[in-house]
Amino acid sequence: MKTGKKNAKKGRRKTARGATKRTASEQLAEYRRKRDFGKTAEPSGADAPRKTKSGSAAGAVLQFVIQKHAASHLHYDLRLELDDVMKSWAVPKGPSLDPKQKRLAMQVEDHPVEYNTFEGTIPQGEYGGGTVMLWDRGMYAPDEIEPGETPADAVRRGLRAGKLAFTFYGERLRGSFALVRTHAQPRAKWLLIKHRDDEAITSIDITAAVRTSVATGRTMEEIAGEGGRVWRSNRGGQKGGEERTAVAAAPDGVTPMRPKPARELPADDGWTFEPWYGGERVLAYAASDGARLVDARGRDITRRNARLAEELTALAERIGRRFVVEAELAGSANAAELFVSDLLVDGEQLLLNEPWRTRRAALDRLLGRRRLQRIHRQPTRTGGPALLRRAAREGWAGIIARHLDAPYLPGARDDSLLRIATR
Ligand code: MN
Repeated sequence: MKTGKKNAKKGRRKTARGATKRTASEQLAEYRRKRDFGKTAEPSGADAPRKTKSGSAAGAVLQFVIQKHAASHLHYDLRLELDDVMKSWAVPKGPSLDPKQKRLAMQVEDHPVEYNTFEGTIPQGEYGGGTVMLWDRGMYAPDEIEPGETPADAVRRGLRAGKLAFTFYGERLRGSFALVRTHAQPRAKWLLIKHRDDEAITSIDITAAVRTSVATGRTMEEIAGEGGRVWRSNRGGQKGGEERTAVAAAPDGVTPMRPKPARELPADDGWTFEPWYGGERVLAYAASDGARLVDARGRDITRRNARLAEELTALAERIGRRFVVEAELAGSANAAELFVSDLLVDGEQLLLNEPWRTRRAALDRLLGRRRLQRIHRQPTRTGGPALLRRAAREGWAGIIARHLDAPYLPGARDDSLLRIATR
């Protein structure tokens, strides 16, 4: 290990606010003591403090990673860069995008920045033995920076005070969160809480929905190398652990958005219209090993729609990823058809907070020009009056109006989704 005179001399730099700052090498002592680098492939951090784009520049850009770690107990490791190391917390349930979910985060030893790219298996019997997946990564920034502070200063101040508000700019996690310390001793315990903002999602558990590596797309089983499965980026359809869990990951209690009955078409622009044949709105969860249909009250109606479920399953297999769509279920029991109008989850992407036009574009890409038997893409158009006249002519129940910029709000009756009956 190279501690070297340089670090010793340099050590205990004063920060802008006068607090003593330990060198990366000092901060990593506990990390190193716990590990035998002859046995584990984890980085030793021996070269810290390193010079990097982010580590320099007075901590202007700070990295974060979240690793899913199947040690003796499955947990997620949250790591925030500060002063050339990764401040680390073990979060047993993982992060949540629901502001009502406060997630326990137990502070653990600082990790080297090199840990940010670690994905693999720590040998059993070694410290933290088990599979590690890179679940998310990106930048983060403190929400409140005082005059004269760098972002790193603000993070340091927040952590010392036991309350840090910060924003994730990750590939999966976005938006503002808080870390709040509840116990200082013997090991600091914190709560990780999502702030209420546009990135909050209460209807889907993101750790259940997102189960693959952000770096390699692999599942935990694939990283562990069980059964010698090899990840293939665009083939999908493997009978791996991911697909086995995908259907089960469909969140319980999530129901379709409920169109609000309206007498008139919305007067302003910014709407799109589609037929309403008089059927019920459902959510369809499709994965290559099975599909599930849920009605407006959240009841599982898969069994009486077995042929639709089969076709959804085949579709997910062909597309190579799972998805969740909203659709109108119309027709008789034996000849039910699904008119798909919205896409809520596309593979590992949660689209609920995206505007309708973005979700619809993704739906169009997903279904493309595929010829399907009982699954149809619901046509949508901007001419409301013409479609309403056609609805009357064709004997439809009416039309549905969707606001182009609205997010999808499961279970909600909102002004952005209207139902206009034919008269
Ligand atoms: Mn861990």
